[in-house]
Amino acid sequence: MLNVLRKIVQDVTQEGDFAASVQRLAEHIQQALGTEVCSIYLTSNGSNGYVLAATQGLNAARIGEVLLAQDQGLVGLVGRRAEPLNLDDAPSHPNFYFVPEIGEEPFNSFLGVPILHQGRVLGVLVVQQREPRRFDEAEEAFLITLSAQLATSVAHAEAVGSAFVADDSTELIENGLFKGFAGAPGIGIGVGVVMHPIADLDSVPSRQAEDITTELMLLDRAVEAVRNDIRTLMRDLQASLPQEELALFDAYLHMLDDSALAGDIRAVVRQGQWAQGALRKVIRQHVSRFEVMDDPYLRERGTDVKDLGVRVLGYLQRIREKKTQFPPKAILVGEEVTPGMLAAIPVEQLHGVISVRGSGNSHVAILARAMGIPAVMGAVDLPAYDLEGVSIIVDGHYGEVYTRPSQQRVSENLSLLEQEQVFAEELNELKELPCVTQDGWRLQLWVNIGLTGDINRSLDRGAEGIGLFRTEVPFMSQDRFPTEVEQRALYREHMEAFEPRPVTMRTLDIGGDKSLSYFPIQEDNPFLGWRGIRVTLDHPEIFLVQVRAMLKANAGLLGDLRIMLPMISSLTELRRAKVLINQAYDEVIEEGVQVKRPQVGVLIEVPAAVYQARLLAKEADFVAVGSNDLTQYLLAVDRNNPRVAELYQEVHPAVITALREVARAVHAEEKPLGICGELAGTPAGAILLMAMGYHVLSMNATHLLRVKWVIRSIKRSDARRILARVMRMDAAEEVTVYLNQEMVRLGLSKAMPARLGSA
Ligand code: PEP
Ligand code: MG
Repeated sequence: MLNVLRKIVQDVTQEGDFAASVQRLAEHIQQALGTEVCSIYLTSNGSNGYVLAATQGLNAARIGEVLLAQDQGLVGLVGRRAEPLNLDDAPSHPNFYFVPEIGEEPFNSFLGVPILHQGRVLGVLVVQQREPRRFDEAEEAFLITLSAQLATSVAHAEAVGSAFVADDSTELIENGLFKGFAGAPGIGIGVGVVMHPIADLDSVPSRQAEDITTELMLLDRAVEAVRNDIRTLMRDLQASLPQEELALFDAYLHMLDDSALAGDIRAVVRQGQWAQGALRKVIRQHVSRFEVMDDPYLRERGTDVKDLGVRVLGYLQRIREKKTQFPPKAILVGEEVTPGMLAAIPVEQLHGVISVRGSGNSHVAILARAMGIPAVMGAVDLPAYDLEGVSIIVDGHYGEVYTRPSQQRVSENLSLLEQEQVFAEELNELKELPCVTQDGWRLQLWVNIGLTGDINRSLDRGAEGIGLFRTEVPFMSQDRFPTEVEQRALYREHMEAFEPRPVTMRTLDIGGDKSLSYFPIQEDNPFLGWRGIRVTLDHPEIFLVQVRAMLKANAGLLGDLRIMLPMISSLTELRRAKVLINQAYDEVIEEGVQVKRPQVGVLIEVPAAVYQARLLAKEADFVAVGSNDLTQYLLAVDRNNPRVAELYQEVHPAVITALREVARAVHAEEKPLGICGELAGTPAGAILLMAMGYHVLSMNATHLLRVKWVIRSIKRSDARRILARVMRMDAAEEVTVYLNQEMVRLGLSKAMPARLGSA
């Protein structure tokens, strides 16, 4: 029984019709517990209280109408205490509140459990019966279990805008304020453009069709395209597959007939749903019918149906994508914004990014920073799918989103934007000046790069080299591995532009949250899995092509080529990579291309490498720290998970100590030391790193002049004093407060973002 209920709970997220699934859930719970009543109350953001979202046993006509204030009745009490309430005589409880016409009179016993998500009460689950008895422990435990599962689904449904409370969404969006995490600094004012993941059926939103005939036509084209694919596949496999296996493809073709899936989808479109939403609904219905079957063979057929659905969706999205027009000031909104989505909107039209999932350390946030686009990540309460065409302000400094802002808020933000622009102009004057402290300590400021558009922005800000070329970024925007010639051309473009400055090329760093559509990696724990150097050492053919392309791209240029290896966790990996790099070098020389030997360095991102830093430094030509991953792995905090984003502390004493240990080890080997994590691009981080003796700080071009301004404004002796004090602190919170105070004391507050009054 629990299994069936779990499935229904999951459906709450996946069904387009949230209200109907919550009602189904109430009916099933009532049956499973054999009670007379089961009701679900959900918090209604619009009214700050609880709304009756579903009931089995009370007056269903009152669903959506009964509103309880936050502290009203037994439901309010359960919510306030955030713990279950089990009563045998509810009407005599002092908090009992009589709701007219709901039909509660005959029921004596009451069991209510809170629906809690991340410490927030989302609602209350209630069962009631006539017989005056307390519910037993097993019943209470059952309800708590269900409510915990339901909480995740409700939170998710709320976030994607399909929750019951979304009936209030217009009210919610009116002058709304949603909290997330700072993703990329800056303020963006524009209009919402909602995107959802390509070919992810479960996250397709319900949407009214703008034009039913067009939707039907799109559907026909997509279904026909899938049919063609299946026919081609059949032809290709004819020789190698037995006849009975090929019959399976015939079955697929039948499933797409008008008498089966396609007909059902068309019917839903005719009722007014757009083609993608109708597809999701019908596929979901068919899949759940298969999933409850006892026969394992038939159960598996559900997967086939889903697969067909994903294929049709793929075409629907591709057909639609080409047509998309964007507003001149677009704010990209999505449940999980991907690097590909960023690239879909012309950069001059992209004024902000908001993602329900992810955190400030996600790669999307890093890319947004590189592009200078304000971003808010992990805005978990945001009704993302209701924001199409809605006016929005993104405050990427403080991780805040304002929906349908008042005129006053817009003008306040416009004046902040102006202040930022004035400071930016002041910073512009520093472009040609060296990054040197007032007491003469010289620091190199390099850039992290990945998109072609970064070149001009970087040189324009006076970058002295490339400290990190994220080569996976161009790989991600293709539909196959780029060839050696293609890679060479792209790398050369950067090297020529930067000549004679040094260029650090990181070898392909895929895995984790960076995937290639044409090289899928499915793992339960991708950040601890097949990532970075682990993938490329297993695929020398990919590695060698890339290294050859790098070497050839550098031919005849004065700038140093530095090849940097990501995710190194042992000396063995460094040694194996060096063997391959030497092999690539020999091959290129044999081909008759005159190239210099590259410098080979390691990226320290894994705690193991911190403890082996001295040995690694001995065998490498240079060392750089990837503090984004190092922080993630040292603190065991997933850099993409908004739930633990507050624990991701770059100034945690453990991280600071590790950074200093690496510096000491690399200095002992007298090797160049750099850092290319996000910490390097923050004013306070740059001060600490300079004090530790990092020679090169590599950052997004966006931060470069601000960091230069800070370094030029202070003495290294001040920085060393600050570091010495920080090294004695034992909590990140203490470090943060102290660093902010010091910034103000040293007259550096201009480099900290202005705060808008949250009026
Ligand atoms: C890092 O981990 O700090 C780093 C520079 O690499 P990435 O952010 O691309 O993982
Ligand atoms: Mg990294």
